[in-house]
Amino acid sequence: MRFLPGKATLAVLMVVGLAVGAGSVGVSRLLAVARDHYDLADTAADLKFDLSELSALSDEYTLSPGSSDLGQQLADSEARVAADVSTVERSGIEPSDMVATVAQVRSYVALVEQRRQSAERGDAESAPAQGAAIDAAFNGLAVGVDTELDESRGSAARSIHEVELLGFGLGGLVLAAVGGAVWWDGRRRRGIARDRAERSNRARFEAMVEHGSDLLAVTYDSGADTYVSPSIEHLLGYRSDSWAAGHLDEIVDPAEQAMVAGLLAQAKATGRAGPADCRVRHADGSSRIMEIAMVDMTGVAEVAGMLWSARDVTDRRALELQLERSAFSDSLTGLPNRALLRQRLDHAAARDVRGGHPIAVLLADLDGFKAVNDSLGHDAGDAVLVETAARLAGCVRPGDTVARLGGDEFAIILEDVREPGLAERLADRMLEIMRQPFAVAGTDLHVGVSIGIALPGVDTGTDLLRNADTAMYNAKALGRGQWTVFEPVMHQVVQDRLQLSADLDGALEQRQLEVHYQPTLSIATGQILGTEALLRWHHPLHGLLPPAEFIPLAEETGLIVPIGRWVLEQACRQTHAWHQQFPDQTPLTISINLSGHQLAHDQLVADVKAVLDSTGIDPDTVVLELTETVLMNDVDIVKTKLAELKNLGVRIAIDDFGTGYSSLAYLQQFPVDILKIDRAFVEAASTDTAGGQALVKAIIDLGASLDLATIAEGIETQDQADLMLTLGCPTGQGFLYARPAPPDHLQTLLTANTPRTLEPVT
Ligand code: C2E
Ligand code: MG
Ligand code: MG
Repeated sequence: MRFLPGKATLAVLMVVGLAVGAGSVGVSRLLAVARDHYDLADTAADLKFDLSELSALSDEYTLSPGSSDLGQQLADSEARVAADVSTVERSGIEPSDMVATVAQVRSYVALVEQRRQSAERGDAESAPAQGAAIDAAFNGLAVGVDTELDESRGSAARSIHEVELLGFGLGGLVLAAVGGAVWWDGRRRRGIARDRAERSNRARFEAMVEHGSDLLAVTYDSGADTYVSPSIEHLLGYRSDSWAAGHLDEIVDPAEQAMVAGLLAQAKATGRAGPADCRVRHADGSSRIMEIAMVDMTGVAEVAGMLWSARDVTDRRALELQLERSAFSDSLTGLPNRALLRQRLDHAAARDVRGGHPIAVLLADLDGFKAVNDSLGHDAGDAVLVETAARLAGCVRPGDTVARLGGDEFAIILEDVREPGLAERLADRMLEIMRQPFAVAGTDLHVGVSIGIALPGVDTGTDLLRNADTAMYNAKALGRGQWTVFEPVMHQVVQDRLQLSADLDGALEQRQLEVHYQPTLSIATGQILGTEALLRWHHPLHGLLPPAEFIPLAEETGLIVPIGRWVLEQACRQTHAWHQQFPDQTPLTISINLSGHQLAHDQLVADVKAVLDSTGIDPDTVVLELTETVLMNDVDIVKTKLAELKNLGVRIAIDDFGTGYSSLAYLQQFPVDILKIDRAFVEAASTDTAGGQALVKAIIDLGASLDLATIAEGIETQDQADLMLTLGCPTGQGFLYARPAPPDHLQTLLTANTPRTLEPVT
């Protein structure tokens, strides 16, 4: 800030300036006086010297009267004394002593003159008297001159001292004046700043009250008019000037009146109340949410009422609600997310404990979802999840919760489960609805679901969720596409599964895997036409494990890819060896099962080619088996892959046909060679004669019309074998003929096998 002196400071400075001015005049006067006195003292000193010289010359001249040289010197000395005297007279200082001294000098010079003249006249008589008079005069004079000298010096010193005092005085005065001015100015400035701050505070406060976004109001018990700040106009659309007592209550939502009255009572009792949200009516009829607080200011004279402050929080509350929603809902499906599920679960469990409202939890996990994601991409995966969410949500009752836990996992809370079998029926409905194909990425996908059910009985929601999860894993282990109800023993099953998964990791390296072979035969002649490679695991603890116990684990972990490659190589090498060993027989076919993961893998075609090349097997004898579900996953990619595989010369079979809900017409677009009728149809055909047989007949006829060979799987009895033959299926596979067994066993069977001439390959 710039230094701007105030009026008072200017006045002080002026006074000080005048004082300094006057002081300097006095100082210069005093200095002049001192200078004069010093000059006079100098002249007195000169006079004293000149007088003593005159005296000496006068004495000398008396001794040599007439000496022109001495006479001249005497005359010069007299002249100097006379000059000194006139200097004294011109000095303007006229102390009485000096005047007396000047007179004495003149008479002295006159005495010297007389003596000189007497000496020149040769008057020796008067010489001693004149000499004595001169000496006496000189002595008196010397004392007078000395006195004068001292006086002049003293006067000069006094003047200087006075100058010093005056200087000190003036300096002090200036210092005091400047200090005082600065102090005074600071005080004045502080005062001004304080005034200004008070004024701007007041203005600011008034502006805040008048134009602020908060609404301020003062109500009085006396019934005096309510004060309402003008902000009510833009906040709620009412005019503030026509505001009368009691109006505030009128705009409060009737449902909130009691709450506001409570706030008022609390503020009167404790001094303040709130903040609390309150719905109020806007002049345009809409409803706004105001956050209100009250302070009792009846004791403050300037206010003397209850002070209300309120702000519009409608938008903020809406945003908070939105944030809360997004924190608790799954962005993809819009279902409650895991966090909200936990909340609802805890809430429902607490209700159950209090009032006996039993809850059940279902946990549904899609089967083969990873394959959809891998082969069709994440957009297709997302579409399946969204559709699944809608389907599951459509199955439950209005009060139940369907939530997405993440990935392809969904949880369902069923409240008030009093009816026995309710959860199981719901699970059935879900399995049913999930069997419908998903129209995604231009194709019909089949995605199953496995469901775990935790029935009421445990205390906490966390326990229920964990139990449902365990039951779901159990359902998966049992073969997917089904539900199981949790039983405590299942925890162990899950543990075992995890352990098994870890063990499988090293199984291939530790040579624990083995390929068994099951023959496919001509039902009519019993001739072995080929074999199917079926994997087994010699587990160090659990013994020989069938594929159902570890293939799903291998698929989940991705181990199926290296394991499948190994099976392919083993089976081809073994079959090629048999081809060479039994050259007279029709070359055996070798059927190798491929899972969806293997088909989706980039390297599959290259791997198959490498195995064909390295083993030297005739590609025409190699059959790759795929289930319908695998074919359904991504029609375009599967078609391309199958075409590439067919180009290598291998054949393709559809395994477990009839279980995958696909239509034969649909399958027509794939380059398939063989249909393997699932065991369930073979069994159904033999037990339920009417429907079962018609179904198998339809499959066989359709296969024939599409030029596909058919193989009946799981023939266990001669009746079944005969039935299949009657229905038109010439080839079969089943325990009736042989169980899957190690290669040695097959070797024995093959040795006894009918030679090629007896049975042509169909
Ligand atoms: P799949 O390809 O349908 O194989 C036929 C299954 O039916 C075999 O079970 C076989 O033992 C069984 N089976 C054959 N005849 C009969 C019968 O008369 N009665 C009964 N009850 N069952 C019979 P397995 O060996 O347990 O294999 C089960 C499934 O595991 C196979 O079904 C196949 O899908 C899969 N699998 C086996 N090996 C491999 C493999 O190397 N890779 C892949 N990806 N999957 C494999
Ligand atoms: Mg098979
Ligand atoms: Mg099969």
